[in-house]
Amino acid sequence: MITDTVLVVGGAGYIGSHMVLALRDAGYSVVVFDNLSRGFPDAVGPAPLVVGDLRSPVDLDACFAAHRVALVMHFAALAYVGESVTEPELYYQNNVVGTINLLTAMRKHGVMRLVFSSTCATYGEPDQVPIDEMHPQRPINPYGRTKLMIEQALVDYATAYGLQSVSLRYFNAAGCDPQCRAGERHDPETHLIPLVLAEALRMQEGGDPRDSRLQVFGTDFPTKDGSCIRDYIHVRDLCAAHLRAAERLLANEALGAEFYNLANGAGFSVLEVIAACREVTGQAVEYQALPRRAGDPAVLVGNARRAAAVLGWRAEIAELPEIIRTAWEWVDLRSGGSSVFGPDAGDGK
Ligand code: UDP
Repeated sequence: MITDTVLVVGGAGYIGSHMVLALRDAGYSVVVFDNLSRGFPDAVGPAPLVVGDLRSPVDLDACFAAHRVALVMHFAALAYVGESVTEPELYYQNNVVGTINLLTAMRKHGVMRLVFSSTCATYGEPDQVPIDEMHPQRPINPYGRTKLMIEQALVDYATAYGLQSVSLRYFNAAGCDPQCRAGERHDPETHLIPLVLAEALRMQEGGDPRDSRLQVFGTDFPTKDGSCIRDYIHVRDLCAAHLRAAERLLANEALGAEFYNLANGAGFSVLEVIAACREVTGQAVEYQALPRRAGDPAVLVGNARRAAAVLGWRAEIAELPEIIRTAWEWVDLRSGGSSVFGPDAGDGK
């Protein structure tokens, strides 16, 4: 019987809320710390929620004093690339100062194990794909820089203080809990799959295809169809990797600071994503082709062999239609479940 308590910082957000489910399903006791600035309290489910802010050492101290935490998983970052360019102060305060505050509180309370959410945005424009962990890290925006700064701090904290950490560099997180207990909610929504599905929902509700607000940023990239290629990794697979990382940290005393890519290894273009969404939803989704968005590399595909070799992890929900289906079921359920589940399906899925 597992009795270790895992503190999920940012457990009210998209990936954090899925992690709470995965931890509870695996038998861990879970406490969530979240300031609810971007997350939703109902996403936490039955786990205890401490409403607090990483920028407040007092909030953190109170949380660690109240709970016997064995390990921390840290998802609570601001993660909009565009916003990080216009509001870098917010990003350095939340993602860097906030995380350093978290590490200070952990050390003070003798909690020396951390799983940290990092990102492929730490690599910047790739020299070659698929990107492995040895690829140079040259982030091209403040968001990526804040994550890289913490990765570097974690190396120093391991050496000086023995704080053990696993940083997981996600490629494009996608999909929702296959049982529809949690889903993807951002406000504002900027991610491709939820935006395509919002358009599919509008069509399902009788919208006019000529009013589509879906935009494709760039159709002149040097790719097979001219649109950007990304590596979409299902949120449940991300959570499974966190569980492996937690087990590794709990079983080893002296790991230091480790880094792993979490990727599917397969790239899909924006137009392929739209085509797959049409297929899954049965809706004639239209889009408008726009110029490239600043800072979008043409191709981002990850190599996750290190995670396979050391953590014994690989993506299981790897097919694009399957990833999209889980996201569509969530969208459809929240909208009243008119077509995917049928009127009498209830929550028996
Ligand atoms: N994208 C798009 N239209 C949108 C949102 C995204 O064409 O409304 C493209 C974006 O340029 C990128 C891909 O879809 O090539 C994935 O973007 P997303 O914002 O989901 O994730 P990112 O790769 O930026 O982390």
